Amino acid sequence: MHKVKNKDIFKASWTYDKAPESTDHIQIKKQYDLFIDGKFTKPISAKYFDTINPSDNKKIAGVAEASDKDVDKAVSAARKAFKGWSTLTGKERGKYIFRIARLIQERAREFAVIESLDGGKPIRESRDIDIPLAANHFFYYAGWADKLTYAFPNRNAKPLGVVGQIIPWNFPLLMAAWKIAPALATGNTIVLKPAETTPLTALKLAEIIQESGIPKGVVNIITGAGETGAAIVNHPDIDKIAFTGSTGVGKYILKVTAGTHKKLTLELGGKGANIIFDDAAIDQAVEGIVNAIFFNQGHVCCAGSRLFVQESVADLVIRKLKDRMETLIVGEPLDKNTDIGAINSKKQLQTIDNYIKIGLNEGGEIYQPKCKLPKQGNWCAPTLFLNVSQSHRIVQEEIFGPVLTVQTFRTIEEVIEKANNTPYGLSAGVWTEKGSKIFHLTQKLNAGVIWANTFNKFDPTSPFGGYKESGFGREGGLHGLKPYVKFE
Ligand code: NDP
Repeated sequence: MHKVKNKDIFKASWTYDKAPESTDHIQIKKQYDLFIDGKFTKPISAKYFDTINPSDNKKIAGVAEASDKDVDKAVSAARKAFKGWSTLTGKERGKYIFRIARLIQERAREFAVIESLDGGKPIRESRDIDIPLAANHFFYYAGWADKLTYAFPNRNAKPLGVVGQIIPWNFPLLMAAWKIAPALATGNTIVLKPAETTPLTALKLAEIIQESGIPKGVVNIITGAGETGAAIVNHPDIDKIAFTGSTGVGKYILKVTAGTHKKLTLELGGKGANIIFDDAAIDQAVEGIVNAIFFNQGHVCCAGSRLFVQESVADLVIRKLKDRMETLIVGEPLDKNTDIGAINSKKQLQTIDNYIKIGLNEGGEIYQPKCKLPKQGNWCAPTLFLNVSQSHRIVQEEIFGPVLTVQTFRTIEEVIEKANNTPYGLSAGVWTEKGSKIFHLTQKLNAGVIWANTFNKFDPTSPFGGYKESGFGREGGLHGLKPYVKFE
C-alpha cells in the first residue's frame, strides 16, 4: 500500500502489491503426445503445434497434432475398450470416477496454475471456480454410476458406445469434466479433443486418468485443431458427438451428422440478457452485472452480455457500474488480485476489437475505465456501450469478450420482448426483490438457464443447455445422463 497522511486519507490512491501465484510446483513437459489406449503415443504425422501463454505470447509447450489416422486409432481403442467397460458393474465404474475426482483435488493447485498460464484466466477464478467445479463434476457423476436404475426406473438404460467429445478454450478442464464424467458413469468410452489454444489441462487430466488405473482405451484424449475435430465428427464408428463451441461449427456438425446413426448434443453460443428492475438491491445488482460480463474476460457462452435496466434507476445503475469498473484490475493472470486476465488468443482479441469498432461506427457511446494494460500479450479493457438499440450488431451478435451493451426498459412486457429478441437462448438473469416477478419472467424468457438475483452460478447437480441457436441437450444433473444412454 502507498503511505498516506491522515488528512489525505480520502484522497489517497490505493494500489495493491503484486501477489503472484508460484509456478514452482507445476510440471509441464516440453512436448505432449496423444493419449490413446492408455499411453502417450507420438502422432503418425510427427507434427506438433505450439500452445502459447496469452499473457506474453510465449510458447509453453509443443502439442501433438492428430491426423485422421490418429483419430482412427483412438476410436478403435475406445471401441475395443467398450465391451469391458460397459459390462463392468456401476459400482466398479464409480470407483474409477471417484479416483479421478480425488486426484484432481490433490493436484488442484497445479491444475489452476496451468489453466491460467495456458488460457489467460485469473488464478482466482481457475483456483476457486474451474478446478473445484471440475472435481465436483466427477464426484457427482461417480455417485450416479451404480444408480442408473434409479435415474431411469423401469427403462433399462444402456450406454451408446463410443462417444466423440469436442470442447472449446474458455473452460478447458471444466468442459472436459462436463463431458467425460457423465459418459463414463453411463458406461461409454471416449475420444475427447480439447481446443487448440488450451490443451494443457486436458493432457494433465490424461496423466491422472492413466494414474487412476482405469482400463486402457476407455478415455482417449487427442489434440489438434478444427480438422481433428472434424475427423472425430465424421468417423463412422462413433455413436455420439457431444460438442461445445461456436454456433457456426455446431451447424456444420448438425449437417454432417444428419441421416447418420450418431446422436448429438450441442452447447453453442449465447447473448444472455441481464435484467435489473427498479426494486432490485442496486449494489448487489451492480456486482452481478460485473460478474455476469467480466468473469473469465467475458469468454463465457452464458455471459450476461446484454444489460437491461429499468429506466427509473438507469442513471444510478450506470453511475455505480462505471465507478465499480474503475476498480477492476486487468493484468497478470497469475496475480491473485487480478479481476480480468488475458484474452485467450490474438485471434479472439482481433474479434473483440473488431466488434468494438463496429459498435463505435454504429454510433454506440463507449465507456472504458482508465486501467493500464500490460504491453505484451492480449488485453482488452472492460467495456460498456451505451446508446445502443436492438438493431445494433453488438447487441445481436456474440462478442465473447468483456464488452457489455446497455439498454433501458419501462415495462415487464417490453423487457421480455427485448430479451427474447435474439437468435440465442442460453441464459438470462433477473434482479428484483419480488418473487412473483421472478416466476413470471422465468416462464416467459426463452433461455435454458435463468438466474435470479445472481449470475454465472454453476453446480454439477443443475442442468445446463440452450434453446434456439444456443443448441440442444443438457449437461449436468440427472438430465446430463440422458444424452449418453439409450433405452432397451
Ligand atoms: P469453435 O466452435 O471454433 O471451437 C470449439 C471446438 O471445436 C474446438 O475444439 C475447435 O477446435 C473444434 N472445431 C473447430 N472446427 C471444427 C469442425 N469443423 N469440426 C469439429 N470440431 C471443430 O469455438 P471456439 O473454440 O472459438 O469457442 C467459442 C465459442 O464457443 C463461442 O461462440 C461460445 O459461445 C461457444 N461456447 C459455448 C458453450 C456452451 O456451453 N454453450 C461453452 C463454451 C463456448 P480448435 O479450437 O482446435 O480449432
